[in-house]
Amino acid sequence: MRPTSQLSHMRPSPIRKIYEKAITMEDVVFFCLGEPDFDTPVCAVDEAIASLRRGETHYTPNAGLPDLRRAAAENLAAYDGLSYDPDGEIAVTSGGMEGLTLALLTLCDPRDEVLLPDPSYTNYTDQIRICGAVPRYVSVSEEDGFRLRPEALEAAVTEKSKVLMLNTPCNPTGAVIPEGHLRELARIALEHDLYVIFDEVYKHLYYGDAPFFNIARIPGMRERTLIVDSCSKTYAMTGWRAGWIAGPRGIVSNIPKLQENVCSCVPAFVQRGAAAALRNCGDDAAAMCAEYRRRRDAAVSGVNAIEGLHAVTPEGAFYLFVNIRDTGLSSAEFATRLLDEARVALSPGSAFGKAGEGFVRISYATPIENIEKGLGRIAEWMKALRSGR
Ligand code: PLP
Repeated sequence: MRPTSQLSHMRPSPIRKIYEKAITMEDVVFFCLGEPDFDTPVCAVDEAIASLRRGETHYTPNAGLPDLRRAAAENLAAYDGLSYDPDGEIAVTSGGMEGLTLALLTLCDPRDEVLLPDPSYTNYTDQIRICGAVPRYVSVSEEDGFRLRPEALEAAVTEKSKVLMLNTPCNPTGAVIPEGHLRELARIALEHDLYVIFDEVYKHLYYGDAPFFNIARIPGMRERTLIVDSCSKTYAMTGWRAGWIAGPRGIVSNIPKLQENVCSCVPAFVQRGAAAALRNCGDDAAAMCAEYRRRRDAAVSGVNAIEGLHAVTPEGAFYLFVNIRDTGLSSAEFATRLLDEARVALSPGSAFGKAGEGFVRISYATPIENIEKGLGRIAEWMKALRSGR
């Protein structure tokens, strides 16, 4: 069968290619997965089991259980300093992934343009295409701290531009967009009547000193921002598929209509576990974050000690975007050869967009001994590569 126009743009992820080869090999160090290696905190698991035992095995409202919407509103108030009404301004989604797709489906008509940084999270492009919308990339560079330059963003805006996608802390670069910078981006959004999808799924994995800042706090922006978040990264709950969208009533009221036709609702016991995580697993999340920070420091100093590689210190998430330009290899060649010759699996930067070429992504969501082992192998391999073996 001929693929539909939405499907025809979809390509298998180069990250999957590396991963699928790596799992057939022995003794590989994995730096390619974007998922926590910790177990979900017990309080969330216990609450989900209790929910099942209570017989909560039926449909919930399309917008999600009021209890989880309230817990998400409490989290947004406490961490982002934003007030959302759980009744009409928050909708539960099947992870951040569905949140992003529903947000785009709500905001975009076919052929509308969506502005997004290059490199960025691999799924954004296909999510935009599924809506019939058109991705419009704006390159970011290491020199600019992987942040969108306002002039570059403004130059990319056309009359078809509808949405700007922002992700902070960022996958794949770990970069965090500071308040001052968000104010400049907000000025452009306001001037050009753009909606913003603010993907903050890594907001609790933040190591900076300045408080985390949400663009919706800027006057005029709450009305045009959809916040997407989930339990996946913060509470090591990737497999649970629990997330939410928060935004102005006029937009968020459409999300349950879409949800009715996509999966009706997120399972009730998952929603109960997610609410328990948000309310009662803060200490577990803080402990995981502290461990990621320790790993980040080990990964940054390890990479920067290898001649021919360097990485800026990321302020959030669990990724290091490593500059490999000195090697003269493309990022795909680097990743493939490193796997074949040194048994380390990482992600080619080109998987995240054209501007990701010249970089590879290391995920440090893995124990520190693994980080040391993997970086040791990379150091040896780089030495051989540089000596022209
Ligand atoms: N946004 C970003 C930037 C991500 O990296 C991910 C997952 O890797 C997601 C959203 C979606 O996460 P989930 O659907 O597990 O909440």
